[in-house]
Amino acid sequence: MNGHVLALSGGVGGAKLAAGLADVLAPGRLTVAVNTGDDFEHLGLTICPDIDSVLYTMAGLNDRQRGWGMANESWHMMEQLRRLGEEDWFNLGDRDLATHIARTWRLRAGSSLSQVTAHLATSLGIAQQIVPMSDNPVRTQVHTGNGWTDFQRWFVSEQCRPAVSEIRFAGTPGAVISPGLAEALAREDLAAIVICPSNPFLSVDPVLAVDGVREALMNRAVPCIAVSPLIGGRALKGPLSKLLAERDLRRGNIDIAQHYGALVDSIVIDRGDADDAPALREGGHAVTLAETLMRSAADQERLARDVLAAAGVEL
Ligand code: GDP
Repeated sequence: MNGHVLALSGGVGGAKLAAGLADVLAPGRLTVAVNTGDDFEHLGLTICPDIDSVLYTMAGLNDRQRGWGMANESWHMMEQLRRLGEEDWFNLGDRDLATHIARTWRLRAGSSLSQVTAHLATSLGIAQQIVPMSDNPVRTQVHTGNGWTDFQRWFVSEQCRPAVSEIRFAGTPGAVISPGLAEALAREDLAAIVICPSNPFLSVDPVLAVDGVREALMNRAVPCIAVSPLIGGRALKGPLSKLLAERDLRRGNIDIAQHYGALVDSIVIDRGDADDAPALREGGHAVTLAETLMRSAADQERLARDVLAAAGVEL
């Protein structure tokens, strides 16, 4: 089937596959729905880290070496902010800052997050649809020894150190699905849903927590395929490995597949992890082996082709 593809994405890992999908599908055939649970207000600005990672990566403006933010970034604003004695725990590059100013300005003028995101995408030359999961604020919070903490405080300021016993998405239930995500799920020509290689607990679960999304996926009429964020049993970056260990989940891909359960038909794992395939199949998931490490645009494109082929989507 050569219809539409809906990708669910978090930040850096998801953004790379989303960019690969954008490279191989005609622009009208892709919607990327992005986690907004990491969003927060900082210094008077509304910051949407995962939407920005997707925007920058799909526009080819991301910094591959640093792994986040924009390439050719400068840091004069942060320097001056420190001199003024303001909060400096969250790094904001000068170019990146412009995104947050534009977003905040437009939100205050009455635009929805969907409208602002569409505007930013178009301005950066992106032809595909990038949509937030919801226009209502959803805020991921983690429970640690210090009680409930906002995600970015734990992630950036506390560098993920305190062990997490529970995760919640404040604003859910009650967060209304964004028009773009609802539309993509309801499309008659929807051919597949792709869950990008993002953190299942912190990036994908918030999307599933938006009213109606989990149900829509459960009642899908098309294949749903997840790409594992683990390679060699480890996350490439971020707190996923730590979260799995803290939950006593030590079987890598098998735990990830079990977490998604009946929401996905099929899982793409790294070729090097082929030993996991029999247990995954026993658990009821189809398995595709692929090179899942994305270091370059060519890697992203190759993985996107493999994912679409596994989902039966024609190019
Ligand atoms: P965040 O919100 O920026 O942390 O981004 P995501 O949740 O989208 O991505 C984090 C996950 O992406 C981590 O668990 C990584 O292991 C995974 N990841 C990053 N790069 C790659 C890659 O090239 N291939 C695969 N398979 N996973 C990746």
